[in-house]
Formats: sequence, C-alpha cells, structure tokens
Amino acid sequence: MSTSAVNTLSVTVIGLGPMGQAMAGAYLDAGYRVTVWNRTARRADDLVARGAVRAATVEEALTANEVVVLSLTDYAAMYAILEPAAAALEGRVLVNLSSDTPEGAREGAAWAERHGARHLTGGVMTPPSGIGSTEFDTYYSGPRDLFEECEATLKVITGTDYRGEDPGLAALYYQLQMDLFWNSLTAWLHTVALANAHSIGASEIRPYAVQTLGGMGRFIDFYTPRIESGQHGGDVERISMAVASMDHVVHTARDAGVDTALPAATLEAFRRAAAEGFEEDSLTRLIAVFGRGGTDAAAPAK
Ligand code: NDP
Repeated sequence: MSTSAVNTLSVTVIGLGPMGQAMAGAYLDAGYRVTVWNRTARRADDLVARGAVRAATVEEALTANEVVVLSLTDYAAMYAILEPAAAALEGRVLVNLSSDTPEGAREGAAWAERHGARHLTGGVMTPPSGIGSTEFDTYYSGPRDLFEECEATLKVITGTDYRGEDPGLAALYYQLQMDLFWNSLTAWLHTVALANAHSIGASEIRPYAVQTLGGMGRFIDFYTPRIESGQHGGDVERISMAVASMDHVVHTARDAGVDTALPAATLEAFRRAAAEGFEEDSLTRLIAVFGRGGTDAAAPAK
C-alpha cells in the first residue's frame, strides 16, 4: 500500500457542517487540492468558489485522494454515507473527526479495516474558529505509523496530540473533556437564568463568572495530588457543608421560579456521598460514589 500520497497536498473532506467547512477552508488556505462531498450539496458552494472540487458521488470523493477527512455528526452518519460506497474504501486513510463513544470508534476502525481502509480516530478540541491554527489540539489514536505518516496533513487542521494505538482512546479523551465542558457551560447558563430572574444581566455577572470558572484550574491542581494519594480528609471543606450550600442554591432557584433540575442533581450526589458515611470528608469522595455507578437518570425508558 502506498504511503507517499499522505504528503501529496491533496485531501478529501466529507461532511461540511461548520467544522468540515472550516477544515476544507484551512486545506485550501494551505495550498492543498481539496475534494469535498456533503449530503446537502449546497454547503459546498463557498468552498467550490474558493477552488475546491465538488465530487458528484461518494465514490468519486473517496477515489479522488488517499486521505479522507470525515467531519460528521457521529459514526452513524459515516455508515450511512460510506456503506453504500464501501468498495471504494480500499487503500484509503480515514481521518475520522466525527465524535462518538470510545466503543463506537473501535467498531468504526474495525469496520474501515474490514473494507481495506486505515483509520485514525480524532477528537477536535476547538470550535470552527480555531481550525487552521496549532493553538488548539486534536486528540488522535490508531496505528502510530499511520499517525506519523499523516501528521503534516493533520497539522493543517490543528495541533496534534497522539494518545495511543487503541482507536477508542482519542474518543475517550474527547468525551472526558466534553463531560467537563458541557456540564460547566450549562452550570454557567443556569447561573445566568437565575441572575436574569433577579433582573441582573449576563454582562453584570460576567466578571464574577469568569473569576469562579477561571479559578477552577487552581482547585484541580490542589486536589489532584490529594486524590492520587488517597487523601480525602475534610480539612478544607466537608461534604456536610457542601450539602447545606447546594441546598441553598436549589432553594434560591426555586424561590426565583427557575428550573431546579440541574442543581438538584448535584445536591442529590452530595447527599448520596453523605449517606455513604462521607459527611466529614472532602468532596473528592464523590469520585468513588460516581465510580460505583448507581443512578442512571438518562437510561432509556423500558
Ligand atoms: P454538524 O452536526 O453540524 O454537521 C456534520 C455533518 O454531518 C454535516 O455535513 C451533515 O450533513 C452530516 N450528517 C449528519 N448526519 C448525516 C447522515 N445521516 N447522513 C449524511 N450526512 C450526515 O457537525 P459540526 O460540523 O458542528 O461538527 C462535526 C463533528 O465535529 C461533530 O462530531 C462534532 O461533535 C465535532 N465537533 C464540533 C465542534 C463545533 O464547535 N461545531 C467542536 C469540536 C468538535 P448535512 O449538511 O447534509 O446535514
């Protein structure tokens, strides 16, 4: 199998949502010959005006270049698009920047290999505005030699952070950060709703929100070595205090007519930790409480 084509400055991008459009644009800016395909064809119009080649079919998109970047909502979209054109996958390198679960990424890599393609999983850690810059990274996993062959091409999109051979690893690191990102951002939006209920605008609480969320790094730095050494003493804060504090948050939201589901879920976790006998310990005991499983509020209804 040829490996030289990964450096031939030509690439196919399948999937032209905000991310795929930014990626194809970055390749054009970098002087690559770019072939594009998207289910909704008009999303390619601006890129074609800038010099990209619009593939008429998925087969044409796959055969145009050895390296095929996939930027799709999820892996189900990949199967929907590529399964009918699977015969054209032989010899391709799929750089799959669609997000999904680690297990989904492993299955996707195995599926690609069964069709004669090589697969790199990617998890992109920037919104479209950061594409084309190495200021932010994309996590990659899959065969190391393949990653190294493709690295120059990958670096057109973002910086690279190779996580290991297991195809699920890049997806796992991505999901770990999405767990943090969506929960933190949603907590802030809840805070804005609560402030709004008191006629305080987002801009008024912005400096305070930035200070609180911006300071989280210091908490992570402080607690991480304690967690690693099994130190969960309540010398700084105790779960009994956290229960009382979170209860005040829930009541403040309820009194203002604001939805309480989000802070109530946090309060419930604190109460579980207290009920397990950790009242006098640090909040870091939650790691063990969460790790034991238990509540699955998002489980599909039976
Ligand atoms: P979108 O969901 O907006 O678009 C992705 C593409 O998937 C579109 O081209 C869409 O086609 C296509 N698609 C979805 N379902 C199907 C299907 N069943 N059959 C064919 N095509 C399908 O995603 P984004 O561009 O925003 O993001 C791409 C990936 O990058 C996602 O996995 C996302 O999680 C991840 N990501 C996104 C970030 C962001 O800020 N946007 C940041 C970091 C990662 P069509 O145009 O026809 O609808």
